[in-house]
Amino acid sequence: MKKLILASNNAKKVKEIKEILEGLPIEVKSLKDEGIDIDVVEDGKTFEENAKKKAKEIYEFLLSKGKKDFIVLADDSGLEVDYLNGEPGIYSARYSGEHGNDDKNNEKLLENLEGVPKEKRGAQFVCQLSLFTDKGEYYTVRGEVRGFIIESIQGKGGFGYDPLFFYEPFNKTFGELEAEEKNKISHRGIALIKLKDTLIDLI
Ligand code: IMP
Repeated sequence: MKKLILASNNAKKVKEIKEILEGLPIEVKSLKDEGIDIDVVEDGKTFEENAKKKAKEIYEFLLSKGKKDFIVLADDSGLEVDYLNGEPGIYSARYSGEHGNDDKNNEKLLENLEGVPKEKRGAQFVCQLSLFTDKGEYYTVRGEVRGFIIESIQGKGGFGYDPLFFYEPFNKTFGELEAEEKNKISHRGIALIKLKDTLIDLI
């Protein structure tokens, strides 16, 4: 049996992926679990290019460190806001200029949507997953979920733009959902369900 190594340093993303895959006969490890510290430059023009780049570069890095019997799963994700022509998109993590500063990113998003009415605040979260296997093959899938951006932070759960992303079927922001609820309907949950059978076959 091979290990599934997650190509991410984002602890909250890793936690969600591990929770969603829980119960499947797959050993899931993060880079941290493997004692590996590496950053991949995300210079692709799409979520797919970035996800594939992360999966392959990290696969090759792990191989060079003597790791054996594993495949790599990368997640490139973000928020696309209609009124902002799809921004922040692939720049979601560094929208405010500082990588991974969720508070500043949320502030900048609110500033850019100031005065914009609700009907124009539609948005989607996108999750592009890419697997890179020991046969040098890629498997990529995409998950999306629609919502809208509210006018101030609501909820303390999740991460990133979750407290601003209002999901109408539950009448709550993603930041107000329990982890289990978010994982069932999120872009990441949807993408992972699409990949589940492939994952089980490859492991
Ligand atoms: P990546 O690490 O380059 O894929 O950037 C992901 C960024 O997109 C995160 O830093 C968040 O800002 C945003 N993002 C992705 N998934 C989610 C989510 O599930 N909730 C909230 N924000 C997310």
